[in-house]
Amino acid sequence: MVFTNDTGDALRAAVALVNSAGDPDTMTTVEDVNAFYDEHGYTGARPRTRDDLQAARALREPLRRLLTAERDAAVPLVNAILAEHRALPQLLRHDALDWHLHAVELNAPFATRVAVETALAMVDVIRSDEMSRLGICAADDCEDVALDLSRNRSRRFCSTACGNRAAVAAYRARQRG
Ligand SMILES: [Zn+2]
Ligand SMILES: [Zn+2]
Repeated sequence: MVFTNDTGDALRAAVALVNSAGDPDTMTTVEDVNAFYDEHGYTGARPRTRDDLQAARALREPLRRLLTAERDAAVPLVNAILAEHRALPQLLRHDALDWHLHAVELNAPFATRVAVETALAMVDVIRSDEMSRLGICAADDCEDVALDLSRNRSRRFCSTACGNRAAVAAYRARQRG
C-alpha cells in the first residue's frame, strides 16, 4: 500500500471527478453526482441540488491543476483549499470505516468535502514526495489524469481502455516494421 486507504480513496475519487470533464462530459446531472457519491463510498450529506452539481463541476478545473502540478506548485494550492474551508483535521470512526481523517463536517456541502479531502490526500502525496504517482495519461489522444497506486509504478494510463488502445497501436506499428 503506497498511501493510507483514505488517501488512496480520495485520490481515486478526485481523479474520477476531474476525468468526468472529458469528452463526453459524464457529470451533467444531479443523478451523475449521486452516482459518483455512491461509487466512491461517500457518507454524510448527499448532493441533492443543481447547486451541488454546479459546485462539483466547478471543482474539476482547480482539482486538475492541483493533481497535475509540480510538487512545489501544489503546496500553495493545497494550503489555499485548507484555509478557505477552515479545515480542522479530526480522526473519526463511523459506519464501517476505521479511524480516518475528516477536516470538515460530514454535512458540509458535497463539493467542499471533496475539495478538502483531495487537499488532505495531497498533503500525504507531497510529504512523501510521490507526485510522480499523478500525471497525464500516456495515450497520445487522451488528456485525462492517470493515477498510479501500484507498488511497481506500472500504471501510465488513465484507464484500461487507454492502455489497450495504446498496446494495439504499438502492435500495429511493429507489424508495419
Ligand atoms: Zn468518514
Ligand atoms: Zn487515457
